[in-house]
Amino acid sequence: MKPGDILVDFDQLANALTGLDPANHEHTAIVKKVTKAARDAAIREAQKHAQEVDVLVINSTPAQSTIDQYQDDGAEVIVIDPGKETVMHRVKTQRPPRLLPVAAKWYDQQAKPKNTTERGYGHRHQTIRRRLLHNHTDGAPCDWCGQPMYKTPAQNFDHAPLEADHSADLKHHGPGDADRLLHRRCNRQRKDGQEHRRPGTQPTNERPGPQADSTPTGTAFTWG
Ligand SMILES: [Zn+2]
Repeated sequence: MKPGDILVDFDQLANALTGLDPANHEHTAIVKKVTKAARDAAIREAQKHAQEVDVLVINSTPAQSTIDQYQDDGAEVIVIDPGKETVMHRVKTQRPPRLLPVAAKWYDQQAKPKNTTERGYGHRHQTIRRRLLHNHTDGAPCDWCGQPMYKTPAQNFDHAPLEADHSADLKHHGPGDADRLLHRRCNRQRKDGQEHRRPGTQPTNERPGPQADSTPTGTAFTWG
């Protein structure tokens, strides 16, 4: 971060609102509600200024829908992971005991490819996606449904950003780099093995707001 950049962190906000120690990680239900409202307002306003400053949002255990939402808004996802050993030690010494299984679960999930490579969680994958987008010709057809693909999400039939995909079957060729773009809906259908379903017929999923949990591992969403 550089001076003037914005950092939105749930614990920091909660402790500022209550006057508690910055190291405190226990918040009452009411404090959580007020903090969430303050955080959502801060994120909304900060996004308007992402051309001038970097905006970082810390989210410890984001749902896939939360990640999708941030990415729809043009955010880059950066996984902050100092390593399981370091994190488990920090949780034991600095956090309430109930967060131990939360941190352990986070590492279990990182081991599953669905939450990392396939869904565009990794930094390398995102770099490749940006390169594919840069080289994309607007209106070129999607390999999956044949409809035109656009860099501007609103122009796509699912109103979502294009996703990077491996044209080779992951099961047979291993987790190589993505090499093409697909509509988001087409990419998710392909990944879910729903080849019998016609594209363009799935309802858009509800997108709940960002989650409020906090652990020493996490994900930062940045704009700017
Ligand atoms: Zn498509």
